[in-house]
Amino acid sequence: AVAVHGIHKRFGPLSVLNGVDVLAKRGEVVSMIGSSGSGKSTFLRCINLLEQPDQGQIVIDGEEIQMKRAANGRATPADRRQVERMRSRVGMVFQNFNLWPHMTVLENIIEAPVQVLKEHKAEAIDHAHALLRKVGLSDKHAHYPGQLSGGQQQRAAIARTLAMRPKLILLDEPTSALDPELVGEVLRVIRQLAEEGNTMILVTHEMQFAREVSHKILFLHQGKVEEEGAPVDMFNAPRSERLRQFLSRTR
Ligand code: ATP
Ligand code: MG
Repeated sequence: AVAVHGIHKRFGPLSVLNGVDVLAKRGEVVSMIGSSGSGKSTFLRCINLLEQPDQGQIVIDGEEIQMKRAANGRATPADRRQVERMRSRVGMVFQNFNLWPHMTVLENIIEAPVQVLKEHKAEAIDHAHALLRKVGLSDKHAHYPGQLSGGQQQRAAIARTLAMRPKLILLDEPTSALDPELVGEVLRVIRQLAEEGNTMILVTHEMQFAREVSHKILFLHQGKVEEEGAPVDMFNAPRSERLRQFLSRTR
């Protein structure tokens, strides 16, 4: 489970997150929708501390990330080791896959489990092959990312994320860099992760998919949760005018 309260984030004069609260219980899929620039990526990056939130509380599986005030008044994670521990529990899947180009698919998958979790290499390799089967890439383990299609690269990236046995998976528009005919194969894998009970926060423009897999949808507008609820309510009976307009633009 992840509970996030009152996240604020500015970039210089630009106030990007203005007090965002999100709760994803264990096994839940929470999807975030909203226009470009509303702060969706920044929010995900704050959860795994790729960005430092200026204010707010983040609790992952009951452990709160300890923030302290720096001289400039900003909150900073007090404890490097805790940050590393938290990061190893939170997996992130990016729009552009972010596989290491000089490593094979298998090497990409075992790198972090071996280096960070100190798994034995043989065990990490066994796990990697099981994950490759799961994402339908068994025959590609010796390929380099450049030899794969976008959809295959993204499935490899998902396998790499799963190799860390994350408690929480963050996905930032995982299909928006893909050619339309490759979107389905990646969504199928994500749907399977949802059905297996992974806790996930998904940023997506795939409204139909969000509607099908999510327990809850959050609509972000100018760095605030403008509306949240069950998919059926959000899509069939939006309360706010802004959400209504957003949905009419994306349909
Ligand atoms: P999109 O749907 O286009 O991906 P988003 O909702 O993910 O949009 P963010 O990427 O979170 O939006 O960006 C929110 C705002 O913060 C934007 O105005 C963006 O330009 C700004 N921003 C994001 N990162 C930085 C940064 N490192 N420095 C300065 N401004 C930033
Ligand atoms: Mg984004």
